Amino acid sequence: MDKEKSKAEQLKEQLFRKNEHFTARFDADETAKADAFCEGYKAFLNGAKTERECFGWIVKHIEEAGFVPFDPEKTYAPGDKVYFGNRGKSVILCVFGKESVANGVRIVASHIDSPRLDLKPTPLYESDELGYFKTHYYGGIRKYQWVAIPLSLHGVFVKKNGEKVCVRLGEEPGEPQFVVTDLLPHLAAEQSKRTLADGIKGEELNILIGSRPFKDDEGSELVKLNLLRLLNEKYGITEDDFISAELELVPAFQARDIGFDRSMIGAYGHDDRVCAYPAMEALLAVDVPVKTSLTVLTDKEEIGSDGNTGLNSAYLHDFIAELAMQAGVPVHRVLGKSSCLSADVNAGFDPTFPQVHDKLNAAFLNHGAVITKYTGARGKSGSSDAHAEFLGWVRAALDSENVCWQIGELGKVDEGGGGTVAMYVANMNVDVVDLGVPVLSMHAPFEVVAKSDVYSTFRACKAYFSYEK
Ligand code: MN
Ligand code: MN
Repeated sequence: MDKEKSKAEQLKEQLFRKNEHFTARFDADETAKADAFCEGYKAFLNGAKTERECFGWIVKHIEEAGFVPFDPEKTYAPGDKVYFGNRGKSVILCVFGKESVANGVRIVASHIDSPRLDLKPTPLYESDELGYFKTHYYGGIRKYQWVAIPLSLHGVFVKKNGEKVCVRLGEEPGEPQFVVTDLLPHLAAEQSKRTLADGIKGEELNILIGSRPFKDDEGSELVKLNLLRLLNEKYGITEDDFISAELELVPAFQARDIGFDRSMIGAYGHDDRVCAYPAMEALLAVDVPVKTSLTVLTDKEEIGSDGNTGLNSAYLHDFIAELAMQAGVPVHRVLGKSSCLSADVNAGFDPTFPQVHDKLNAAFLNHGAVITKYTGARGKSGSSDAHAEFLGWVRAALDSENVCWQIGELGKVDEGGGGTVAMYVANMNVDVVDLGVPVLSMHAPFEVVAKSDVYSTFRACKAYFSYEK
């Protein structure tokens, strides 16, 4: 028989907040569900590595689930499923709710762009008989992490006649890959004196792409010539076509289970596809939501959300304005009654680097979706800092479905900081809070998440869409 609990134990149980591990909270069936959910997520990771590829993958997936392109001239009924695509790089999924749009909408917003190496407009050159691409990195990368790893090339050429040529090379078995070279330790004495931030400099992130010269002739730049000959054969392009191209180098790794227990996933670009996928699946899993519900999968977050496919542009506002017009109310009235989960990752507590976290306010792997009340840096600057009233409502929504969740900050107060799309949505007078998956090695070429947290984020988004109050 169990020993009777002491008064202190009883009182602790009543008063202390529990921050339980997923496996302490649920049985093995729930872990099996998390694992099964993550098989779909891994397929998404491997099938779509850039915002354009994510867009294509998502549209195909949601059309199979019955979503059709939004038609502003049409009126919609509860349960109708539509989507609005923005320039092939961001997409809004919408399921009409039981209540009128006049009562506000519920939004989950996450991003499908990830840090990477973009080609410069004039990228191709030859140096000492080796061929290279010049790059300009996209987003907050630690440059030293991007050398000496296999890279694949993704993107498009757009020719002057408008023809679009898609590129995806280095993902399939047998396809060539690309790499940024680094110095050998024997000759790196001077380089090793650089700080880690400068260990590799931006202009040193040059992609090795070939070494065989064009054979038949004498002359200069014969390696470059041979490369252009091959590119012309494969893609029908000339050097000028790089001007109207968007080509991105990303890690060529496939998503893999991590650990003997297979409890985690290692992959490129968890930030933020690890929230985009659950946010999408949650909306697909809701039949007829209470409020009209939107999952926004956006571009440009990693470079500050500017640009017309990012959430600092009007496209989300304008889509909601279309819904408001149909409901016969001005858009500002809809926005003022709307709410949003900004579904983005947070830093998971890393025991190897405990010094950057306040352990009391850090997010831990396997403790569920992490709510981040505010992000920002230097005293919450650049953050929307969610209202206590809204957090109270979100807690109730998550607990109503017994979702595994935790609350956390992004590192110690003076340690650094970051931002998400939360503030741009908040600036439309919408209530917003961040919620997402804790990540280890965030923004590295190979990031790590726990499967139970991916699944918990799916359940959190679903609870948010389904909550009746
Ligand atoms: Mn992010
Ligand atoms: Mn990020």
